[in-house]
Amino acid sequence: MVRIHSCPPFFSTGGQASTIELVGGPANDELHRSRREVLFPENRNRGNPMADVFTVEQRSRVMAAVRSKGNRSTEMALVGAFRAFHITGWRRHYPIAGKPDFVFRHARLAVFTDGCFWHGCPRCGTIPVSNRPYWEAKIASNIQRDRAQTKALRLRGWRVVRIWEHDLRGSALRRVVRRIKATLAVNSQSSD
Ligand SMILES: [Zn+2]
Repeated sequence: MVRIHSCPPFFSTGGQASTIELVGGPANDELHRSRREVLFPENRNRGNPMADVFTVEQRSRVMAAVRSKGNRSTEMALVGAFRAFHITGWRRHYPIAGKPDFVFRHARLAVFTDGCFWHGCPRCGTIPVSNRPYWEAKIASNIQRDRAQTKALRLRGWRVVRIWEHDLRGSALRRVVRRIKATLAVNSQSSD
């Protein structure tokens, strides 16, 4: 449980935080979440994705709250890899149907980074024990949506690469980079 009410009363974050009641009230997740959003408005700003003032537990809850915008930590891992391996020509959140996390427009390649939990990774995805039927339905519907998005993009002439969160850690990341480089190379040969 997040103990936000243990913060010092004059704890300053700039902005309007000093007007927030920090003590008392029910230990309610929604309440805490909304308080955090007011207390740490910079974390709602996609322009500053590396800012992290949360503990690991808080971060994981916030990641859940922002899941509709994609898993930021997996996206940032890939951004880091693109930069480290000098992969250029990509854009984040390019506005096309299916909302890929990255688009190589010239190469017509769409890349998604799929969080293992939310997208139902067969290798390491888990279903919470509490409220299991809800989560099963939720994750099944996410999987279905992912497939529909991939299919729709391919029908429109895009190549689609979906990368699991677990492939963005450690040495697996190199394989991801090789895969993307190879896909881009095939495109440049066929279009030349
Ligand atoms: Zn996984």
